[in-house]
Amino acid sequence: MPSALPPPSSPPEMDVCIHGAGPVGACLALALSRHGLSVGLVDPRRSPAPAREDLRAYALSPSSVQLLQQLKVWEALPSEARTSVQAMRVQGDSGGRLEFAGAQQGLNELAWIVDAGALERVLAEALRYAPHVQSLGQAAPAGLQAICEGRESATRADLGVKWLRQPYQHTAVAARLIGDQPHDGMAHQWFQQPGVLGLLPFDRPKSGSSWALVWSLPEELARLHLEEDPASFEAALEDATAGAVGRLQLASDRAAWPLVSARAEPVCGEGWVLLGDAAHAMHPLAGQGLNVGLGDVACLAPLLARSHREQPWRSLGDARTLRAYARSRAWPTQSMTTLVDGLWQLFSRPEAPFKELRNQGMSLVNQFSPLKHWLARQAMDDRATQPNRNPR
Ligand SMILES: Cc1cc2nc3c(=O)[nH]c(=O)nc-3n(C[C@H](O)[C@H](O)[C@H](O)COP(=O)(O)OP(=O)(O)OC[C@H]3O[C@@H](n4cnc5c(N)ncnc54)[C@H](O)[C@@H]3O)c2cc1C
Repeated sequence: MPSALPPPSSPPEMDVCIHGAGPVGACLALALSRHGLSVGLVDPRRSPAPAREDLRAYALSPSSVQLLQQLKVWEALPSEARTSVQAMRVQGDSGGRLEFAGAQQGLNELAWIVDAGALERVLAEALRYAPHVQSLGQAAPAGLQAICEGRESATRADLGVKWLRQPYQHTAVAARLIGDQPHDGMAHQWFQQPGVLGLLPFDRPKSGSSWALVWSLPEELARLHLEEDPASFEAALEDATAGAVGRLQLASDRAAWPLVSARAEPVCGEGWVLLGDAAHAMHPLAGQGLNVGLGDVACLAPLLARSHREQPWRSLGDARTLRAYARSRAWPTQSMTTLVDGLWQLFSRPEAPFKELRNQGMSLVNQFSPLKHWLARQAMDDRATQPNRNPR
């Protein structure tokens, strides 16, 4: 993939050049365009349709949904490509149980489950009509280079940025399933030995009784489940869920992602900035990676717009503006990464004291409303945990 940055001395051809048209890069382009900034979006794929449908379904927090609404893409999603989660049940490996309900938190829903492929399509469509956005085959000189290339970013490596990476030696297996019982808007998660299994309520392909599966497993076991025939895979799922949601039938291929926890150091410098998975990657057990990436967009876009409006003589790549972004995002990113990694460490230890601690802990939290409320808030709104919501 092309990753060359234009020489810093080249005269800018636009305000911001965004590298990567994944969900974070696409949302940043739309947000900046709405503020009247000129944007180039480097998308080396630029083909009309991806070769393979993305089987992920994103659990999006209310803050992420709010951003998509502001960008006018939320309403464009087909209704069966976004399913609301009314409640969530988490089960431990020895009787521990935790339940959250939107109504308890004073909300209509806890989250929305959104089809990754459908989101990609509506974002691409919105970009086609967005003013001030041009699609580029390679990077162009700009006031700011915004790197949104995902976990394997080549431009981040070219910039010499450290990528502090901790592989989990686990693989996430994703697929779509149809159940023989209604999902009732309930998300399920099982922390087991040796994996974490998540079933997200979904309305594709069958309204009211489909599920998006995310199953994190040790690499070798994941490989076996990816290669086995559909009937054996369905039997393994029924075993792992103890039949709690009825019979499950595969309704798609199976896809796999290696899992890591990682963060870039630093996330900005003179003339460049990192956002989304290019800046931080986390285990999908809490469904937070994209939410944190959209939090980056919601923070950076207004900062750049304000700088452009109030100090038009100052370059958008000015290190002081970018440091304000980095400071503002440090706490929500670090706290979420630590929370997710801590959960992972607690639930991956096979020793008896850890098993007792996590299962009793879950049941205890379940009975203690304020702590449960706090935990739910962390998962629902990463911007709510941000100490400085109006960075300067
Ligand atoms: C199984 C699984 C389940 C998940 N579930 C959730 C969930 O429920 N909720 C949630 O919030 N998050 C979830 N995530 C995390 C989420 O997928 C990521 O956080 C999100 O995709 C990050 O978006 P991004 O745009 O930063 O990066 P990406 O989605 O990786 O997009 C990067 C883009 O940059 C392009 N690119 C790469 N290199 C270059 C280059 N050199 N030049 C130009 N372009 C380039 C790529 O082609 C791609 O289009 C999940 C992840 C996995 C693996």
